[in-house]
Amino acid sequence: MRSVAIVGANLAGGRAVEALRQAGFDGRITLIGEEPWRPYERPPLSKEVLWDPANVPDNFFLQNEAWYDDNRIDMRLGTRAEAVDLAAGGVRLSGGELVAADKVLLATGGHARKLNLAGADCANVHYLRTRDDAARMALDLLEGARIVIVGMGVIGAEVAASAIKLGCDVTAVEPLAAPMERALGQRFGHWLGEEHRKRGVKTHFSRGVTGFKFAEGRVSAVELDDGALIPCDAVVVGVGIVPATSLALDAGLAVNNGIIVDRRCQTSNPVVFAAGDVAEQDGFFGGRFRQETYQNAADQAQAAAMAMLEREVDYCRPMWYWSDQFDLNIQFSGQIPVQAEVVLRGDMESNAFVAFFLSGGTINGMLTVNRAPDMGIGKRLVERRVKASAAQLADADVSLRDVLKQAS
Ligand code: ADP
Repeated sequence: MRSVAIVGANLAGGRAVEALRQAGFDGRITLIGEEPWRPYERPPLSKEVLWDPANVPDNFFLQNEAWYDDNRIDMRLGTRAEAVDLAAGGVRLSGGELVAADKVLLATGGHARKLNLAGADCANVHYLRTRDDAARMALDLLEGARIVIVGMGVIGAEVAASAIKLGCDVTAVEPLAAPMERALGQRFGHWLGEEHRKRGVKTHFSRGVTGFKFAEGRVSAVELDDGALIPCDAVVVGVGIVPATSLALDAGLAVNNGIIVDRRCQTSNPVVFAAGDVAEQDGFFGGRFRQETYQNAADQAQAAAMAMLEREVDYCRPMWYWSDQFDLNIQFSGQIPVQAEVVLRGDMESNAFVAFFLSGGTINGMLTVNRAPDMGIGKRLVERRVKASAAQLADADVSLRDVLKQAS
């Protein structure tokens, strides 16, 4: 392999570039990204960037500008890839240029899913995916502004917390019974909903949005399916992403909910690889999934880079993610199995606890709230499919390290 083209210049694309050079790959690397920025961190977009958009945090970018020069990366930012042209042997850019490449990595991620309602594109209806989205949203998160959040997944819940911090009047609407319910389950979703309420978020759970009212070209109220009308100055929509699979589809690659890859991150065409939010791969507990997590984008991209270099790769890891909302650090590893046995360690009232989700005695998932240090061991308990008794797990005097040791 003498040349690689990477489409998508964010976390996955950025980490792949770094991994290729760290592994000693000396050939040509072209990094193509639609956004004008070099790869940056998305987690601060719902937090620090909203709190203070004029001062991006230290380490916002994965690397400083000089790193890409020093490593001879051919940077094509602000540039769309129009096609993976396998017949021509490369990637066709928006201007018509062909970037020749022996191998291609698709790290195209996804786009924020739009609400299917008239007015969903109004200037004061915000979505959050990019740095520019966050900067625009920040202009509307003013003290006293009435903000309606539609969708209380990770994005909605984090923006709700940031908006409260900024002094906004926040109302959250979510069709499920609790925020992050799919991720945390009902019991812990309900707990999280209460925490939002206690801190001033007005909540309308188990409610859908049926339409908007307008004044002077902006949305002035949000209408719910129970007839409620919530006046607002701006709307924040966080209803998930649509994976950016069109390049793969046009190139004839196998695509399901994402671009289908094997455990080497190889698509149905052996010279094309995919990683990050767009890639659908074997799940650790079976099935095939796209993992929309930070850690997966970073690790899967590194795995893809190694596979492109023809190293041995067998990537299949349980999910791990974190979310920071108010004074709550929430982390989750693994999955919640159907008919999970739930074991609690610590006390939910004090907002410092761990929950284990077992299936047939095996730890499938672990949630920590303000117990980040426990997650280091927790990830290993999940990854090694450790069996443990409910009594041991519930007893805070039994160290998790011992539970892990005893299993191995
Ligand atoms: P994100 O990354 O945008 O936070 P998630 O998948 O974590 O995505 O969460 C999306 C949330 O939006 C879920 O809680 C889901 O129930 C909610 N949701 C999905 N569709 C709609 C909709 N049409 N209106 C309101 N909320 C929605």
